[in-house]
Amino acid sequence: MGGALPKALAALGHDVHLFLPFYGAIDRDLVNAKKPKADIAVPVATRLPHAKVFSVKAGGVNVHLLENDGYFGREHLYNTPAGDYPDNCERFSFFCRGILEAAKALKIKPDIVHANDWQTALLPVYLKKLYAADAAFHNTVSVYTIHNLGYQGHFNASHWRHTGLDWSLYSGGALEFYGGMNFMKAGLVFADVITTVSPTYANEIKSAEHGWGMDGILRGRAADLCGILNGIDGEDWDPAKDKLIPARFSPSNLDGKKVCKAALLTEMGLNPGDEPVIGVVSRLVEQKGMDILFDVADSLLDAGAKIAILGSGSSHFESAFSNLAARRPGQAAAHIGYNEGLAHRIEAGADIFLMPSRYEPCGLNQMYSLRYGTVPVVRATGGLNDTVTEFDPVAGTGNGFKFYEPTAHALHWKTTEAMTIMRARPGDWFKMVKRGMKEDHSWAKSAKAYVGVYEKALANWKNERG
Ligand code: ADP
Repeated sequence: MGGALPKALAALGHDVHLFLPFYGAIDRDLVNAKKPKADIAVPVATRLPHAKVFSVKAGGVNVHLLENDGYFGREHLYNTPAGDYPDNCERFSFFCRGILEAAKALKIKPDIVHANDWQTALLPVYLKKLYAADAAFHNTVSVYTIHNLGYQGHFNASHWRHTGLDWSLYSGGALEFYGGMNFMKAGLVFADVITTVSPTYANEIKSAEHGWGMDGILRGRAADLCGILNGIDGEDWDPAKDKLIPARFSPSNLDGKKVCKAALLTEMGLNPGDEPVIGVVSRLVEQKGMDILFDVADSLLDAGAKIAILGSGSSHFESAFSNLAARRPGQAAAHIGYNEGLAHRIEAGADIFLMPSRYEPCGLNQMYSLRYGTVPVVRATGGLNDTVTEFDPVAGTGNGFKFYEPTAHALHWKTTEAMTIMRARPGDWFKMVKRGMKEDHSWAKSAKAYVGVYEKALANWKNERG
């Protein structure tokens, strides 16, 4: 979203500035020949560390990189395999405050500051409490987006001094959370508008089951909370142009998809043939329902399916799926690791795509699957529920299959139904495939929805101030 939404907003004619930490992973060649646009001093506890601000234009967006190698010039972004960086509170307090200082130095007077996830959740509270009297932000409204409520930015209270906030804000109604501090609460309490990445997730997070302790706050702010689906990159993920797949195809000519299926079976060492191929590309973690997938895999294979899995994650699931592939050669294949090209080839070559997630704020793979003519079978949660509509052969509607309980039984039942329809009603199946391929899941559509939110937020703010 950080890459695609700004570009789509710029294409609609808005003046967009994207602020990023100058992480160690960012290519220095981008700025090597450039002079910094500003050098800012940022208050952090009792010190004034500096950041150089390098600016580049990309995709119509003004990208500003805040360089402080002590904080950001590291191998990873937030954590190493050994755990979180111990100074994350300090690093992201510095970043949030640095954004506002950089905006001032660059003479940007934003109408909207749009912050995302815990890393930038302090922006709304800074605007309301530390920068309220600052002329640069007199007309600024804040929007805060939750991408995954499971990651909130919890810190020990001993780090509070880095935030620069008054101790009165270390309270249950503000940033305190069960005896520590919680960055995400700053966004949820102080932003003018809260969004999340699908309408269903916006509802789910108001319940104790999916609220991660924030459901009370979110219920209280229900009038300011809405869900907007993420889009997908239609350039990178277009089966008619994709260079990562062995043959191209479109809704009007699906011949290339057959070629992709045969090639996928060969690439992954699966037996050739027309039986349903089930694809999975996922982080291998419990959130994604990998445990229930593992529970049903053997019986799906017994029913004639072939399964192609690509993913990495917890070592427990990595070895479980590798063992499955070793036990069922020719029928199940598991590629452990991250592989962009193979992800495209699974999307293109599979018939059915499984996403049995326990929760899924938005999810991207079901939208790639639709575009690539691969029918999604998903758990009806979050963005999966909003993008997948149940197949109905009588009405001639629907683009996939949904199940409701996060159980192996429900997943098995729905996947078997999809396989049966694929085999027994190929005419209806291919009509469904083509309906899915023609849907619009572009960022252009989502960007217009965000502009609607920004305009509403500005109008509310003007009404409040008279
Ligand atoms: P999440 O962000 O929770 O992992 P999403 O569905 O929103 O789930 O996005 C996951 C993205 O990462 C998708 O674009 C998916 O194709 C990609 N992905 C996940 N695992 C792999 C992998 N092992 N190799 C290549 N791409 C992967």
